Amino acid sequence: MKLVIAQMKHETNTFSPVPTPLARFARGSEAPPEGDAAIAAYRGTGSAIGAFIELAEGAGAQFVVPVAAAAAPSGPVDDAAYEHIAGRIVDAVRAGCDAVLLDLHGAMVTRTYDDGEGELLRRIRAAAPGVPIGVALDMHTNLYDAMGANATVLAGYQTYPHVDMHETGQRAGRALLAQLARRARPTMAWGRQPMLPHVMRQGTDDSPNRELQARCHEMEAQGALAASVFVGFPNADIEYAGLSAVVVTDNDSALARRWCDELLERAWSARAQFVYTPEPLKQSMARAQSLAAAKPPGSGPIVLLDHSDNCASGGTMDTMTVLGAMLDAGLQDAAAFAIFDPAAVQQMIAAGVGAQVTLALGGKLDMPSLQLKGAPRTVSGRVRLICDGRHRNVGAMGRGELQTMGPSAVLDAGGIEIVVISNHVEPHDLAAFTAVGIAPQHKTFVMLKSRVHWRAGLKSLAHAVVECNGSGVCTSDYAALAHRRVRRPIYPLDAL
Ligand SMILES: [Zn+2]
Repeated sequence: MKLVIAQMKHETNTFSPVPTPLARFARGSEAPPEGDAAIAAYRGTGSAIGAFIELAEGAGAQFVVPVAAAAAPSGPVDDAAYEHIAGRIVDAVRAGCDAVLLDLHGAMVTRTYDDGEGELLRRIRAAAPGVPIGVALDMHTNLYDAMGANATVLAGYQTYPHVDMHETGQRAGRALLAQLARRARPTMAWGRQPMLPHVMRQGTDDSPNRELQARCHEMEAQGALAASVFVGFPNADIEYAGLSAVVVTDNDSALARRWCDELLERAWSARAQFVYTPEPLKQSMARAQSLAAAKPPGSGPIVLLDHSDNCASGGTMDTMTVLGAMLDAGLQDAAAFAIFDPAAVQQMIAAGVGAQVTLALGGKLDMPSLQLKGAPRTVSGRVRLICDGRHRNVGAMGRGELQTMGPSAVLDAGGIEIVVISNHVEPHDLAAFTAVGIAPQHKTFVMLKSRVHWRAGLKSLAHAVVECNGSGVCTSDYAALAHRRVRRPIYPLDAL
């Protein structure tokens, strides 16, 4: 038995000005890892591709990994990058195999294709018409028919923050291996609802997604090979952005259809609960300060969540609105993670540890989709630390995976320690702070540029969270986003 195992992951924010060349998938090398290097990068990690490698080795199967390509979310993927990655995968399939296992995102938009994953699956299906294809997908998948029509099994993450990537890989991989062993005949039904759930209301700690995912678990306990509700990624102006569901059963297409329709109906009934209304920033800052005044000593930080500028949703990670409000308010005993500003890092490296510097920090990237110019802020302080920004996740999300923040520095700006980094990395893991010598659990305030994933490794440390409406291309204000291509009518853009 010979398997092709590969990864192609990118969540595309079509409003983001951050470019997506091949180098963004390469993480410091010339190109994304292939072959033994790809296996070494993911074996034993909490990823879906890690689960595929384990399943293949456990089954004594021969396998190849032509490419393992994952990039932090950003704007549409360059055609050359897409053709490089998709080409590696299709060539490996064409060389001959019994099955294909893919770790994909589900919301990849390229300069040419609105549905990067559907196009890849269409090419694989054309190269190997009868070969089973199993796919693990992110919960933020924007589902197109080409994905369902050309795959054998689709299985999505059932947690947000995504702490079950490995289990999702196992679910997709096991169903496919069962088919190869003639122990199962996967049959799949999928569908969409015209709704764009707000990301800030998608967490699986909260209703209604908690209950939707619980129903998926019940279906799997009752015999479904995989049941998935994809809440969708709304910061993509494409026709089929939004919520969808897929159910895979063992040779029972009527049951797959019925269960899929049930999931879609449940989601539709809960549509109003997926709407998020942000609080004005001024009010949030005042609330954070009164929470801090009343908090018992040693009780953990007040998290200030800068949710409009999360790099793991395509944010530039350099807007200064929330950090600026913290500086204006004179907050003390605070840390901020992080501002993406490679030039500022280089200035701090040139000045050296201990030096006093004045920087035009952040705001380097314009955001034409929001008609906003980049707005740096002058900040003075002392360079506290310089490091290479490399660390491995220790928490439940992507455990063991290497994170590369690039050259990084900490600026001590009086009351606030500001982490400045050269690659986009969302703060969801304590190791990101350990790498820069900050213990967030002992701070009074911690600003995080994140939406929901911070909960994976940092929520347990927090005394309270205050969601701060700053600025950026992952804003939850749909009125600011000018969706032009998404299908209409769609809730809540239209009153349905
Ligand atoms: Zn996601």
